[in-house]
Amino acid sequence: MRDTGASTARIQLLPRVPQEIQTWILDIFVHFNFSSLKVATRIDVFFHQRYQAKLYRHVCFKQDNIQAFRDLAEMSKGYVLDASLAPTPQQRARDRFLSVCRSIIHLRLQDEASGDTLAKALAQCVPLDANPIFPNVKYLMLGERFMRYLERWNHRDYTLEMNSRKAVGILSRAMDVKHLGIDTIRTTEAKSFAHPEVWKVVNLQRHWKLQSITFHNDVGPVRLIFEGVPLHRYSQTDPWETSMLQLAKDKSTWEVGSKVEILNQRPYSVDTSLLPRDIAEQIQVYVGDSDDGYGPCICCGEHLIVSDSDDD
Ligand SMILES: [Zn+2]
Repeated sequence: MRDTGASTARIQLLPRVPQEIQTWILDIFVHFNFSSLKVATRIDVFFHQRYQAKLYRHVCFKQDNIQAFRDLAEMSKGYVLDASLAPTPQQRARDRFLSVCRSIIHLRLQDEASGDTLAKALAQCVPLDANPIFPNVKYLMLGERFMRYLERWNHRDYTLEMNSRKAVGILSRAMDVKHLGIDTIRTTEAKSFAHPEVWKVVNLQRHWKLQSITFHNDVGPVRLIFEGVPLHRYSQTDPWETSMLQLAKDKSTWEVGSKVEILNQRPYSVDTSLLPRDIAEQIQVYVGDSDDGYGPCICCGEHLIVSDSDDD
């Protein structure tokens, strides 16, 4: 790694100045660049503690890195907490594992491996009755390939193998998400509770009190409404398509109204006839194709409006 030498040289210069000044300089240094942040966590214990939480604030689990997380979980397994003894390697691994889990605020699950391996790691290394292992994950983004993993049927739940049906149950207990983002919930037009990826998302968020759900690349005319979620946002793939609002799951209780924002749609064309009337009355619909008031998505930072002038 060529840049290590330069980084070390910079670090060796630092002890000449008081720590407050070092901290002031490093705060600026790490602010703009993720690799600088990684270097800063390696300087010493003080800076490690100062920047570690920042390092893991945004995490994307995917095939390339999920095994490293599983290994960390494995290493921390079977530790015995005894304050009278010097910390064992397992205890240090456990502390590190829990600290990484606690630091994550924005989590993205990118693909099948991220869901499957994460669920295995949690199932094997985290006690079932424990508090959520990711207590601070408030934003969860489900990538397109992760959604295709949920698409599988998994009829038989009594196999020992991990599958996306079991993974959803494990992930649901592992965090308490406030904002959920979904990339391409279905690749085909029909969407209902009969489709595995739809009922798995319903199950995933069942115990959370979601404040919003954002649907990126929402294919076809159906816009799914999830019970009890106060804000639904959709970025539809075809701007000229009429939107048809439909409940993701049959109505059981419906306590709060919901605001529905359909973005990237050109003419106002919304059909609420599939909703029970009392629910349709509690839903406010906004349809728009301008960026007014809509910044990037709070889950993933992507823009919801696909503008015609994007090419210039
Ligand atoms: Zn998003």
